[in-house]
Amino acid sequence: MMISIRGANTVEENTREAILDSTKELLQEIINANELEASQIISVFFTATKDLTKVYPAVAARDLGLTDCSLICCQEMYVEDSLKQCIRVLFHVNGTKEQKEIQHIYLGGAKVLRPDIAKPLSIAIDGPAGAGKSTIAKALAQKLNFIYVDTGAMYRALGYYIYHQINDDIYDEEKLSQYIQNYLDQIHVSIDYENGQQLIFVCDENVTSNIRTQEIGHIASIISANKYVRLFLVKEQQNLAKIKSVVMDGRDIGTHVLPDAPLKIFLTASVKIRALRRFNELREKNQTPHLETIQKEIEERDYRDMHREFAPLEQASDAIVIDTSEMSIDEVVTSIYERAKKLGL
Ligand code: C5P
Repeated sequence: MMISIRGANTVEENTREAILDSTKELLQEIINANELEASQIISVFFTATKDLTKVYPAVAARDLGLTDCSLICCQEMYVEDSLKQCIRVLFHVNGTKEQKEIQHIYLGGAKVLRPDIAKPLSIAIDGPAGAGKSTIAKALAQKLNFIYVDTGAMYRALGYYIYHQINDDIYDEEKLSQYIQNYLDQIHVSIDYENGQQLIFVCDENVTSNIRTQEIGHIASIISANKYVRLFLVKEQQNLAKIKSVVMDGRDIGTHVLPDAPLKIFLTASVKIRALRRFNELREKNQTPHLETIQKEIEERDYRDMHREFAPLEQASDAIVIDTSEMSIDEVVTSIYERAKKLGL
C-alpha cells in the first residue's frame, strides 16, 4: 500500500547549516513518528520558500542515509504575506499503515500551517508596568510566528468603556462593583489583527488608540482588581490561546490564565528605569508627562496589582525571571527566543 506524509519546518536564517539542520530535524521526526525504514521510502519532494537559497534541502536527506529514494527540490509558490523561510516535504512511502494512521509533522513556525493538527502553543510573559513586556512579547511573537495578545489592553479597553458609562463613580468601589454585577454580561471585549497589529474593540467600538494614557492605565488597574472582571477577561484570554499559538503578556498569565504554558517569563526592572521608559513612551506620543508623577503612579500600580485579593501580580513558581534594567530589547527577545527554541516551540 502506498501512503503519503506531509511535513514542514521553518529555518532561522538563510545559511547552509540552518537549512540542513531544520530539514534533518523535520525528516527525522517524520521517520520516527511514523516508524519508517529507509527501504520503505519511495520518494521525497521538497519545497523551499524563495528566501532560502544556500543549499538544496534534499542534501539533508542524503546526509541522513536516504540514498535509494528519489528526491527533488522546488521553489514553493510565492503567496503574499505567507510564512517565510519554510521547508515543506511530501513523502511517498510503501507502508503497512492506513493513510489515516499517518502522522504529518509540522515543526517550529510551520505549526501555523496546519492549526487543525498542531496543538497551539503558548508563552506567558508577566511582570509589572514598564518592564518591557509588550515590546518584547510583540517582537517575540513576530519571530515565532505566534499571535501577540496584550491582555493589559483588554483591561484598559474595559476600563475605558466603564469610565464612559459611570464617570467618576468608577473610583467608588461599591458603585463600580454594582455596575459590574448589573452590566458586565452585556459588554463584549474582542481582539482582532490588522497587518500584524492588535486592535481592541469594546461592544464593536475600536478603542485601540484611546487606551494608551496614564489615566486609562490607572483605571484599568482599578477595575482589574474586581473578581468578576478578571473571570470574564481570563475566559476570553484562554479561549484565544485554545485556537492560536500565542505570546500573551499580563500580570497573571503564568499563574492563572495559562498555568500549563511550557514557557513562562517574569520580566522585571527597577522602578526608576520603568518610570523613565513610560516617560519616553508618552513623550513620543506627544504627551507631556512628569517623571516623578509617573514613578509614583507606577509604584501605586505595582502595589495594587500585587496586593489585590484575586489573581495578584506574582511570579509563577516555574517562571524564569529576567531583569531587563540593563538589557536591550534585542538581548531580552533573543534570550527568550533561544529558550523557546530549546523547548521546541
Ligand atoms: O500592561 P498594562 O499597563 O497595559 O495594564 C494595565 C493594567 O491592567 C495593569 O496595571 C493591571 O492592573 C491590569 N492588568 C491585569 N492583568 C493582566 C493585564 C493587565 O490586572 N493580565
